[in-house]
Amino acid sequence: MPKCARCGNTFSFGSSGVPPAAPAANGPISGLIANFDKQGYITEMDSLANDLDLVQEAWEMPKEYFDTCYECGSNEIIWN
Ligand SMILES: [Zn+2]
Repeated sequence: MPKCARCGNTFSFGSSGVPPAAPAANGPISGLIANFDKQGYITEMDSLANDLDLVQEAWEMPKEYFDTCYECGSNEIIWN
């Protein structure tokens, strides 16, 4: 499962490749955010991109997409 090397978050991650639709100071870090369970499977995915192909691909290859910690914004994500 993914884990943030900085804060230890293993639950919620965003994709830096998918910018939020409307960037705001306190807005979401990404247009694509997923929650993971302890096995590393996505339990929930929130997409502002409104692009079903992208959502499907991110679901199948989360490692390629979720590279940003939703808790602290770090890009140091460890996958194991
Ligand atoms: Zn973090």
